[in-house]
Amino acid sequence: MVAPLAREAVTTYIGGMSPPTAASPVSAPNPFAAMDARSISLGMKRGVRRLCPACAKGPMFAGYLKVNDRCPTCGHDLSHYRADDGPAYFTILLVGHLVVAPLFALSVVKSWSPILLMLVGLPLTAAAALSALPFIKGAWIGLLWGTGGHDEAQTQPIEP
Ligand SMILES: [Zn+2]
Repeated sequence: MVAPLAREAVTTYIGGMSPPTAASPVSAPNPFAAMDARSISLGMKRGVRRLCPACAKGPMFAGYLKVNDRCPTCGHDLSHYRADDGPAYFTILLVGHLVVAPLFALSVVKSWSPILLMLVGLPLTAAAALSALPFIKGAWIGLLWGTGGHDEAQTQPIEP
C-alpha cells in the first residue's frame, strides 16, 4: 500500500503519466511508439539502397550526392541530416582495405613499375571510391535518421 502523498510524488516524478488502470490497460498511447519505429539498422538498410529512411519508397538523392530537401514520396525533411565528413571517411576506410591492400599483396603487382602501378591503381581506387560513396552516404544518413538526434537538435529555435 502506497501512501497518497508518496503515490502523488511518484506520479509527478514520471512526468505526470498515470499508471495503467484496469479500465484501460492497453488503450493508453505508448509515448515511445515513434521511437520504436526508428532504428539504426533499419535506417542504414534503407539508406544504403539510397531510399528515404522514413518511408523506404522515395529517393534520398536528387543527384549523385545531393540529398533531397524533402522526400518526394512522404515529405520527410531530409535537409537537416548533415553528413559532413563521415561518408568520405568510411569510403576511404573501405576502399583502402578492399582495393589498396590486395593491390600490394598480389605478387604480380610487385614486378610492375611504379608508373604502371600508378596508371592501374589510381583509376581503380578512384572508381571504387566514387562508386561506393553514394551508398555509404545513404547509409550514413540512414544512421542519422535512426538515432533521431539531429531531428530534435534542428527543430529547436536558436536563442538570440
Ligand atoms: Zn520518404
